[in-house]
Amino acid sequence: MTGKRSAQGSPYFKVRRSRVHGRGAFALRRIRKGTRIVEYLGDRVSHQEADRRYEDRDERDNHTFLFIVDARTVIDAGVGGNDARYMNHSCNPNCETVIEDKRVFVEAIRTIQPGEELNYDYQLGRSPDDPSDVDEIYACHCGQPNCRGTMLWPPKKKPERRRPLSSRAAKEPAKRGTGTARKGKQKLKKRTRTAAR
Ligand SMILES: [Zn+2]
Repeated sequence: MTGKRSAQGSPYFKVRRSRVHGRGAFALRRIRKGTRIVEYLGDRVSHQEADRRYEDRDERDNHTFLFIVDARTVIDAGVGGNDARYMNHSCNPNCETVIEDKRVFVEAIRTIQPGEELNYDYQLGRSPDDPSDVDEIYACHCGQPNCRGTMLWPPKKKPERRRPLSSRAAKEPAKRGTGTARKGKQKLKKRTRTAAR
């Protein structure tokens, strides 16, 4: 995981334990503003397939490795992903994600000093059937003065581009809201990272 020699590593950062969340990516050198640091890699699948892979996930699990490329494609970094997936969310990030030719890249939006944790705004999507405490599940601990307290994008800034499970939910009535629905695992819309809006 320490960069240069690892096939999946980046010379710009290494992955280690983060105080923000799980593991994080930390700069190994000074990174100039505008530097393309790493490509977000993983299995490229349809939204339908991504839904299928994560529909049984525990709703309290706040890890997310899915990144929306466009209306057709989602990158699942849980399969064949590289170290880019360890970059944490921040509400005042030093990086941003850029989509180019249907590929996702992480670029520095300011100069980053060695040892700094690399991060970007996940802008996680919301879903009408989110649990009421979804912002707590996806609580942000970035510690920035402008922290919005959640990794989710604020509601109603811009309409969501797609609602895959709402159509499916119509075909599967009464799966939610029944007596046992709140117990254990529950079908939820997959949680996806998105690029700058
Ligand atoms: Zn924050």
